[in-house]
Amino acid sequence: MNMPVDALADPIAAHAQAMIAHLGEDPRRAGLAETPERFAAALRFLTGGYEAEPEDVVGRGIFEAEGEGLVLVRDVEFHSLCEHHLLPFFGRVHVAYLPGDRIIGLSKIPRIVDLYARRLQVQERITEQVADALEKLLEPKGVMVLAEARHLCMAMRGVEKQHSATATRAVRGVYAHDAMARHDVLSMMKG
Ligand SMILES: [Zn+2]
Repeated sequence: MNMPVDALADPIAAHAQAMIAHLGEDPRRAGLAETPERFAAALRFLTGGYEAEPEDVVGRGIFEAEGEGLVLVRDVEFHSLCEHHLLPFFGRVHVAYLPGDRIIGLSKIPRIVDLYARRLQVQERITEQVADALEKLLEPKGVMVLAEARHLCMAMRGVEKQHSATATRAVRGVYAHDAMARHDVLSMMKG
């Protein structure tokens, strides 16, 4: 049973083909024949965040602050792959910051989230990385990032209850040492 490995453009596809065979399937049957290439393309897309840094996705989307008010972006959807099982976890991120001299275009925040979500990840790290990126780009007075996600590596294997979600939080600046400020933002995030 010779696999036409050299016909697969992406080296990941050859591994996917071998994996399918190891599972006892016939990688040549019609439904699976194109699967290795599709899997490789999907995995490349889902890990495309390795190819950029926050500065790249933000571009010219940073402006001078005009007010002093808190900026809150709620319900930024994200999908990622857990680095322990290579299975999806997905949910929402809420991002708040208290501007210093700079603000960021609101559409750029989901792009920063995607940049980190499209890597092999753990939820805690995405949360911290989004907070660090905003701190570095904007030097704000405070940042809070809250993520809520479901992990298929837990849900599909029956490790967690069907609808339970994992929450992680990262705080910087004023939100790290002012409990009242932190409480205000948290209640706004929860709407
Ligand atoms: Zn996992």
